[in-house]
Amino acid sequence: MNKVRKPIIGISANILIDQGGKFPGYRRSYVNEDYVKAVVLSGGIPVILPITDDESVIASYIEKVDGLLLSGGYDIYPQNYGEEPLEKIGETLPERDAYEACLLQLAMHKKMPILGICRGLQMINVYQKGTLWQDLSYNKDISIKHTQAYSPTLPTHTVNIEKDSMLYDILKVESTLVNSFHHQIIREIGEDLKVVARAKDGAIEAVELKNYPFLLAVQWHPEMMHATSDIMLNIFKRFIEVSR
Ligand code: MN
Repeated sequence: MNKVRKPIIGISANILIDQGGKFPGYRRSYVNEDYVKAVVLSGGIPVILPITDDESVIASYIEKVDGLLLSGGYDIYPQNYGEEPLEKIGETLPERDAYEACLLQLAMHKKMPILGICRGLQMINVYQKGTLWQDLSYNKDISIKHTQAYSPTLPTHTVNIEKDSMLYDILKVESTLVNSFHHQIIREIGEDLKVVARAKDGAIEAVELKNYPFLLAVQWHPEMMHATSDIMLNIFKRFIEVSR
C-alpha cells in the first residue's frame, strides 16, 4: 500500500511542579492533551519533547521531527528581554526559555515549519529580540478582558486579521472570535516579525516571520477550540500540511 507518511510534530513540553500531594516539589514533564488531540485530528503524529539542557538531545529532537509546536505555559523570564521583574510578573521557568531558544535556533536553521501558541508567540518574539508587557495592566491602551475566567472552548474577544498574511489565507476571514488566556502581550515587535492580527484594543494577537517558509504564532489557544471550531482546526491542518 502506498501510504503517505504523516508528519511528526514535536510539541515543546512544560514542567508541572507539585504544590502538595505525596511529593511536594516533584517535577513532571507534560503537555495539555488538547495539543495532542488537535495534531492527531489534523493528520499529524504528535511527539512530546521534554525540557532538557542537553543540546545534543535537543538536536536529536529537531532531526526527528517535521514541524515544531511551541506550547503555552509560564511567563518568559524578563531578564531575557532586558527587564527587571515587575510586581505583576507571573511564574517563570528560565530553563524552559533556554531550552526553547535552542529548539528555535535549530528548527529555524532547517527552515522547519513552526507554530507558536500563547507563550509560544511570546517566546518567538523574545527570541527575535522583541519585548513583552509583563502584565496587561501596565499598558494603558488595553481595555478588553484577555484573561477570561471560564470555558476554554468559548471564544470571547474579536481579532482583526491582516489580509496580506498566511493567517488570512488559512482562516479566510478578516475578523473572528478567539478565546483569551493571557496576562501578557508583545510590547516591541521582534526582528523580522510581522503583526498579522490584533484585538480591538490593539493587543497583538498573531505574528508571522518574514522571509521564512512557515512561522505563525498566535496569542490565543486554537488547540482548545479544536473540537468546536473548524476554522481554528484549519491552523493545525495548514501547519501539518506544510510540515509534510
Ligand atoms: Mn487576547
